[in-house]
Amino acid sequence: MMNRIYLDHAATTPVSAQVLEAMIPFFSDCWGNASSVYGTGREARKAVEKARRQVAEAIGAEPREILFTGCGSESDNLAVKGTAFALKEKGRHIITTDIEHPAVLNTCRWLEKHGFEVSYITPDKEGYIAPEKILAAIREDTILISMMAANNEIGTIEPVAEVGAAAREKGICFHTDAVQAAGAVPINVNEWKADLLSISAHKFYGPKGAGALYVRHGTHIDSLIHGGEQERGLRAGTENVPGIVGLGTAIEAANKELKQNADKMTRLRERLINSILSEIPGTKLNGPREGRLPNNCNISFDKIDGEALLLRLDLAGIAASSGSACTAGSQEISHVLKAIGLTDQEAKGSLRLTTGTGNTEAEIDEAVTVIHEIVNDLRSLFRG
Ligand SMILES: *Cc1c(COP(=O)(O)O)cnc(C)c1O
Repeated sequence: MMNRIYLDHAATTPVSAQVLEAMIPFFSDCWGNASSVYGTGREARKAVEKARRQVAEAIGAEPREILFTGCGSESDNLAVKGTAFALKEKGRHIITTDIEHPAVLNTCRWLEKHGFEVSYITPDKEGYIAPEKILAAIREDTILISMMAANNEIGTIEPVAEVGAAAREKGICFHTDAVQAAGAVPINVNEWKADLLSISAHKFYGPKGAGALYVRHGTHIDSLIHGGEQERGLRAGTENVPGIVGLGTAIEAANKELKQNADKMTRLRERLINSILSEIPGTKLNGPREGRLPNNCNISFDKIDGEALLLRLDLAGIAASSGSACTAGSQEISHVLKAIGLTDQEAKGSLRLTTGTGNTEAEIDEAVTVIHEIVNDLRSLFRG
């Protein structure tokens, strides 16, 4: 079943027509191996290098500093483990936050089992990580600070430039997961003083299975996938040429349309937040009122089970996401909502709605009406 109204753009976005069109020739006519020396391979190589320039341009980097990966999760793994392995003789302490994506969080937990120590910094009630808290956690043996640029669940935009500057001053490598920030807020690796930065194409109207890691020139990381000499020997494997072309095209477009899209997303988000908070009683916004991603709305509903709300929304043709994921029958509470101090009940009753460029005001209004009806219905059942 296709959902009529899609409000889960933080999970993934559709591939834009422009991106699809750019990718197609690399499935059909130009299918050569980008590492081969003959004509069709050279065409593929040219396309990969063009995409590298497009990504570099969009984030203020040099093309040689861009590494293509298979997804945002791989970029995060390569950044965190790659640094840990490369610098383990220098130190074994890593600083990250409680609200990172599992791609960073679970990588850090895994490293803890392999001789590394990790400090997890707590956010405030709105998901904001105070730079002072990061600074206070720095030790002699700290080798890496990894803090996301913007949170995928509650949309909080983090003080990356301040943390980047502090890390630079102390000579500590700084990684930021910018997977949710890309296409939503301007990214500049020099203003942020980032040494490593992760992005993923499918979060900004590019294809799934195509990510990139920015690696500042002179930054040492170990490879996770050994084999051929692709990607300067840091990521072996025949290049995913269509995916890379899609990533390059998508990030260039996202950057060009950033202001316009962010303005539109902010209008839709405000309409969504204001309507829900004013029309539906027993609702509370999670994350900050300002300083949040333009397309993110996360609301807790009193006396509501988020999973039930999601299922009913799906039946009504609306796609969204909740603060708990039903895994093998047990409801796991979102670590982010927990970290900002929500009770289990509040976290379970949360709904994340993330808008995209294809959404309209009419869709927002309809979604609010439907949510209101379902919430009333579920609450009357709850009482009965
Ligand atoms: C989606 C997401 C990822 C993972 O990206 P994939 O390409 O799906 O592996 C990592 N970090 C954040 C913040 C995300 O939103």
